[in-house]
Formats: sequence, structure tokens, C-alpha cells
Amino acid sequence: MKKYVYFFGGGAAEGDMTMKNLLGGKGANLAEMAGIGLPVPPGFTVSTEVCDLYYKSRKTIPAGVKAEIEKNLKKLEKAAGQGFGDPKDPLLVSIRSGARASMPGMMDTILNLGLNEKTVAGLIAKTSNPRFAYDCYRRFVQMYGDVVLGLKPVNKDDIDPFEAIIEQKKHEMGIESDTDLSADDLKDLVARFKAAIKNKTGHDFPEDPMKQLWGAIGSVFGSWMNERAIAYRKLYDIPESWGTAVNVQLMVFGNMGRDSGTGVAFNRDAATGADTFYGEYLMNAQGEDVVAGIRTPLPIADLKKDDPKAHAQLEKIRHILEKHYADMMDIEFTIQQGKLYMLQCRVGKRTAFAAIKIAVDMVDEKLISEKEALKRIEPDQLNQLLRPIFDPAEKDAAIKGGRLLAKGLNAGPGAATGRLVFNSVDAEAWAKRGEKVILTRIETSPEDIKGMNAAEGILTARGGMTSHAALVARQMGRVCVAGCSELAIDYGRHVMTVNGKTLKEGDWISIDGTTGQVIEGKIQTKPSEVLQVLIEKSLDPKKAPVYQTFAKVMAWADAHRTLRIRTNADQPDQSANAVAFGAEGIGLCRTEHMFFGEGKIGPMREMILADTLEQRKIALAKLLPLQRKDFAGIFEVMAGRPVTIRTIDPPLHEFLPHEEKDQRALAAEMGISYEKIKERVASLHEFNPMLGFRGCRLGIIYPEITEMQARAVFEAAAATKKKGIDVGPEVMIPLVGHVKELAHQEKLVRQTAEAVMKEQGVTFKYLVGTMIEIPRGAITADEIASVAEFFSFGTNDLTQTTLGVSRDDAGRFLRPYVDKEIYAKDPFEVIDRDGVGQLMRMAVERGRKTRPGIKLGICGEHGGDPSSIEFCHLIGLNYVSCSPFRVPIARLAAARAALLNAPETKTSKAAKSKKAGRKR
Ligand code: PEP
Ligand code: MG
Repeated sequence: MKKYVYFFGGGAAEGDMTMKNLLGGKGANLAEMAGIGLPVPPGFTVSTEVCDLYYKSRKTIPAGVKAEIEKNLKKLEKAAGQGFGDPKDPLLVSIRSGARASMPGMMDTILNLGLNEKTVAGLIAKTSNPRFAYDCYRRFVQMYGDVVLGLKPVNKDDIDPFEAIIEQKKHEMGIESDTDLSADDLKDLVARFKAAIKNKTGHDFPEDPMKQLWGAIGSVFGSWMNERAIAYRKLYDIPESWGTAVNVQLMVFGNMGRDSGTGVAFNRDAATGADTFYGEYLMNAQGEDVVAGIRTPLPIADLKKDDPKAHAQLEKIRHILEKHYADMMDIEFTIQQGKLYMLQCRVGKRTAFAAIKIAVDMVDEKLISEKEALKRIEPDQLNQLLRPIFDPAEKDAAIKGGRLLAKGLNAGPGAATGRLVFNSVDAEAWAKRGEKVILTRIETSPEDIKGMNAAEGILTARGGMTSHAALVARQMGRVCVAGCSELAIDYGRHVMTVNGKTLKEGDWISIDGTTGQVIEGKIQTKPSEVLQVLIEKSLDPKKAPVYQTFAKVMAWADAHRTLRIRTNADQPDQSANAVAFGAEGIGLCRTEHMFFGEGKIGPMREMILADTLEQRKIALAKLLPLQRKDFAGIFEVMAGRPVTIRTIDPPLHEFLPHEEKDQRALAAEMGISYEKIKERVASLHEFNPMLGFRGCRLGIIYPEITEMQARAVFEAAAATKKKGIDVGPEVMIPLVGHVKELAHQEKLVRQTAEAVMKEQGVTFKYLVGTMIEIPRGAITADEIASVAEFFSFGTNDLTQTTLGVSRDDAGRFLRPYVDKEIYAKDPFEVIDRDGVGQLMRMAVERGRKTRPGIKLGICGEHGGDPSSIEFCHLIGLNYVSCSPFRVPIARLAAARAALLNAPETKTSKAAKSKKAGRKR
């Protein structure tokens, strides 16, 4: 019979950490910890397969699974020595979600389940603490009411109905803090909560613990499809089909008095990556008090005073876990009357700084290999290292000028400046219209995820380093200052007061997530340490520890990748930046971009407006030296690295003015009539310019343009060579669909190259190749390769023409397409492997068949996207080309593509042997 429920506890477990797909991350790691003898409260995991069954059975738990759960519940009663629903000694459980990938706070949790009017008496008798028992009870009814019975608020400014009842009660009693509520007060709250539930739902609160259990399990499965979980999955590419598991576990209490507590910790610092035990706890509290940011917790070091035994035991567990998992782990623990329990452990979320530092340190400490380190750093995380910091002078001036408002926790490093908004909906709306915003909340909750994503930075008044705001911000790479208690935020009036100053919505504010400072007004940002070393060359690498770590990772990446990395650049300074970032060549120099440069647009327009060949040649002669100078600048910077220069590509009307006043100005400048210009612009009008007179078609109809461009390239190459600098020109013909188009242009290019070499008395090697960017080019790649020495996939146009989707007009419908999951990702960002990808694969095979040594690359925007880079690796391209600032990301993505697709990783031999050799 198929197994759906897995038990853990008492030094053994039916599952282990390799079973994440089935047990979810939380279930698998609880099993693992129980298996290696750590103190885990016993429980069982209902597998992710049941989530699927739940939805297939019209949101019910199938009878067979119910029977298995009941059997495991019996086992749990035995392990705990308590009875579920036993009025003398009731077993209380927690019900938690746990998907394969961690989705912090996205799904539902219910604690203290099993309490009712009878069992609460048992809890009182057992603990001799009626206040504690009623506190548990009111928390349970509240959570159950919110989560299972649907009383949770829906509107952004609404408050939880149960919180409103608590506030009312406190008001009646004339008290301020929840802790001042007596046992009787709490008992009364339970009654009021139940009345509110009856009032809202028309039903009594379920007293039967089994009924409570089925309701809770069903609602955790149900929460897999709640709006925020769906939004989160979209953001992090988590497939809907994975489902969540449900963990049912014996409750342990951190709120049983002063000898109890709860906390979260990391074996390394999640913000900086430093090798310190890092965490926070609260005595006499339940888990959600720490993570929800309701009370500001204490640093873990203080636990040494509060409970030295538990602190020492935790230190020991920290080392056990670090060795066992060889990673930075995020743990949750509870101390119940002096006894420590582990409630969760998972691979911890970390900033890019921390991810890189921990990976590098762990290689140095021989805990992991270089390869493993590379697998642990997501390429896009590198973006955080390239992110701006505040201009120190400006920041100093702001502080000296009295603009420092407050200091909070440095929860997400980096510098952000933006306008104040006080809720997530506004953050999204403002960002949509192009405003930079700082989302400022008392505390954040999973509902805020979209607004957090839209904001430059996040500022909260409450909560610690492990609060929701801090965790999510770090994961998203957002700047975050959390727990800034000096802020008094008024959601209703959209204002905040801080140390006597009042700031309103829309005011500028700056937050430093590295120091925790909150500063009034806008502060200029400055390039990161990595950029200061590499691009500005204003910082000594020896004085830049972040840069040094970055450089190490880059060196490892280079050792493991097989793809070469080039850049798309058309200016010498861009090329120099790209080389500093590690580019090994230029994969695309769009010559038309150069025509908009200083002094060039005039002769360009003259050329386009020419009536005769003679006139056109006169204009081209003016362009020749200008282009030659540009190319020479690039060749010098690239110093012998390959430089792919593409002949003119866009439709000519793009170079002409379309407004009457600009056309009149051009007429005056050229000494011709306005009517003539107007007429010429009209005659160049096309209904479908992207499928019109562009690409190689221009060079075929006006061969003199190709000749001029080829001459500029080769004369620049000759001049550079004469300076003693090597050159690697590669002339690329765009939009080729037929081999004869290429042959026509190739002949011109080669004739020009030969002529220039002869005239200049120098020789140099050069290549002639083509872009593959329309389907016919890919399909006839075998024929085209008889002429082309290289192919570069222009996946922007190839996507446009393969999908029949205009790259310029897709915005209106492509986003909804992605939302509806017609395409999983925007195909202009991530290669559509099944469509465009198949054409690429075909072109690679056919091209290589004709010309085995053909050089193959990509220069569409996809060349900087990690998933697309992986695809390029898989189909055997030689290089990818991307924008200069994405070069480090591409280097890492290429290495990961090689490592993650290496044969031994696929069969995961390493994981298997590790598992076999492990003691249970
Ligand atoms: C492409 O089509 O992918 C490409 C690189 O060319 P462009 O974007 O200039 O059309
Ligand atoms: Mg193109």
C-alpha cells in the first residue's frame, strides 16, 4: 500500500533530508534531525502527494489517508504519553505547512490544536498555570478562526477582528499590554472570540479535536492556493504541481514561564556571512512572537545569562548541524521549562554578501568544494554586489545637517533612497508609475510581498533581524532597516513621526541597510565596492574585502565553465567596463548605435536622403572616418580579443526626424526643402518595419553601405595592428534567411578586407559570419554554414519571428500571457526552449554538420539570463554575449550550467554515497 504519512521522533524517523519532494523541506529536516538524535518533539508529516489528492478530491482528505493519519496520531499519543482530547492530560499539536522550497510565512500554521472547554482544564491541572492555559487557548481560537474559518481581514487597512476584541478588552480593563491580561480576562476573550466566530460564520467553534484536526490539515493544503502563496511561487519559480506537506507535531511551549523561551538562529550571520552564532530569542514567548516582529527579541548571546545550559546545548547543536549539512542553517528552537527542543532547521536565506562569503569561507574551511560553492550562489545574487552605496560625503553632510532620523537594525545591506509609502498596494502603484519608494510599515506580513518587491527599500518599526521584513528583504535583495522603534507610524493619516519630526507620504527618505540608519531626504548613491575597484579603479582591491571574495568566486567560475563570455558593446568605454568584468570579447557591436553619436547623425541622414548613388557615396565618405575611429577605439580596448561587428540593421526611417519642427531644422541644415524631407520620410514608411527593409536587405540594395562599413572596420584593424596591438575582427551580417543573401554580402566584405590589407601593407585574420535570427536562417543553417564562419543567435528577433509576436508591441498582452502561464516566463527574457530553443538546436546541428569548426554564440538579450545561458550550454554553443554589467552573472551562470549538468550530478552519486555512509 502506498505510504502517505511519515512518523518522526524518539531518536528515529521514517524519512530523511533527501526526501524533500515528498515531505517538504520542513518535514524532511525534522526527520533528519530526529534521525541524528537531536531533540525534536515527535510528530508526523502528511506528504505533498496528499496535497495533490486533496485538490483532486474536491478539497477533501481521502479516507485512506485519514486512516493513516489516525494511525500516526495514535503513535504520537504513545510517544508523548498523552491523549488527543484527553481532558486530564491532553495532547496538543501544531499544524504547519512545508513545501519543497521554503516559502516563509506564505501558508498557514495553527498552534495549540486539541484545546477545547474540557481539555483546557487538563492543561491547567498539568501546569498549575491557568493564565498560560487560557493564553494558549485564546491563541488557538484566534488562529483557527483566522485561518480555518476565514475571519482574517481582507482589506489593507482592516485589522484582525480578534485583535480588535483584544484592544477593546484592554480598553475596558484600562491596561496597555497583553501581558497584563489575567487568566479570567483571557478566558473571557476566548468566549468573545467564539461568539465572534458564531456571529460571522453561523456555526459554533468546533470543540471536537478530530474535527479541529481535519479542518486545520485541510486549510493548510488550501493555503497552497492562496493569493500570496501564488504570488510568491511566481516570484521564485516554484511550480504549482509541487504542493505542500503538512506537519503535525507535539506542541512544546516557550511561553510556560520564565524558564521557557523560543528563538531562531543561524550558524553564521545571514546578513554579513561572518562565522558567528547569530540569532534572537524571547523568554516566555511563542514562536510567532519572534518571527512576526511583535516584540523585539534579544541577541542569542544573552541566552547565556538567561539559560546557560540551553545556550551551551544550542552551541553544540550549531556545530553538529554545520558539519552535518555543511551549510548555513536557519534553526528554530523552543525551551520548555529548561528543556531545549529543535523545531525546525533549513538551509538559511542569506544576502548575496553572505551567500558569497559563506560559500568561500566554507571552501577555505574544507567543509565544501569549490564546485559546491558555485552551486550555492545564484547568479542574480551577484547583482547585489554591484548595487549602489550612498555617496559618503553626501551622507556625512546629511547627518551633520541633522537629517539622521533614527537607527534601526541593518537587516538588508545596501543603500536606498525613495519616497515614503505606507502600504503595499501604494508601493506597487507608485513604483508602476516610475517612482522610487521606500515601503514603511509597523511590521510587514506575507500580504506585503508584492509591495516589498516593488520598493527600493523596506523600513519597519518593529521586529528583529529574523522578522518577516528582514528575511524576505534579504531574499529579494532589497535594502531593509527593521525594528526602528523610534518611528510612530499612522497608517490612517499616511504619516510618520520620528523624534519630533513628521514625515508624510511622498516625502523623500534614505535608508542604509548596512548600518541601519534612517535619514531624511534624498541622498545620492554611489557604485559598490566591486565597481569602485573594477570600473572606477578608485579603490585598492587589497582594501576591498567584498571585492576579494567576489574575485575568488569569479576565478572558480572561470575554471569550471565551458562557455566563453562576451559582451554587447558599441563604445570603447562600455567595452572597457566589460573587460574589467571579465568579458572575453565583443559578441555584438551594433554599428547603428554609433550613428547617433557626436557628428554622425548628420551625414547618416544625408546618406539616407540621397537621391543618387553619387550623393550617397559622398555622405558615406563622411561617415567612414567617424566609424573607423569608433572601431579603432574598440579594437584598442579589446586588445586582440574577438570583436563581432554587425553591419547596419534597423529600418532607415529610424534615423530620420518625424516631427515637423525637426524635419524643418534638418532641411535648413542640409540646404534642401522641408517638402523634400517630408516626402522622403513618408516614402520610407513601412507597415511592418521589423519585417521590412532592414538587416542584410539594406546592404544588398545599397552595397556601398556594407562596403563603407567593412572598410571602416578593416582600416581600423590595420591601424590598430600597426600600433602593435592585435585585433580580432568578425564581421556579422544581420537578418539572413537565405544563403545567397549572406554570400552576396560576404563577397563585398572579403573584397574590401583584401583591398585594405593590400593598401595598408598589413595582414590580419578576420571572420565573416551571420546572425541566425529568423526561422529560415535556422532551418537552412546547413546551407548558410557553407559561407558563414560563425553564427550568432539573435534571439530577440528569432523570438519575435518564431512566435509571431512583435517585440515592440508585446507588452500589452505578454504579461497576462505569463500570468495565465501560457508562457511560463516572458519569452523575450528567458529562451522559450520548446519553440525558439528547438530552432536553435536545429541550427547548431545543421551548421556543425556543414562546418564542424563553426563558432557559435548568442547575442540576443537572453545571453545574460541564467536559465537561457544554461540552455546555450546544453545545446553546445561556444559563447554567450550580454551587457557589460551582466558579465559576472553570465560567468557564474555558465559555470553552474556546466556543474549542474555534469553527468555525476545528474545521477547524484555524491548524495547517494553520503546517505549510505551516514549513521542513523
Ligand atoms: C537580436 O535580434 O537578438 C539581436 C541581438 O539584434 P537586435 O536586438 O539588434 O535586433
Ligand atoms: Mg536582431
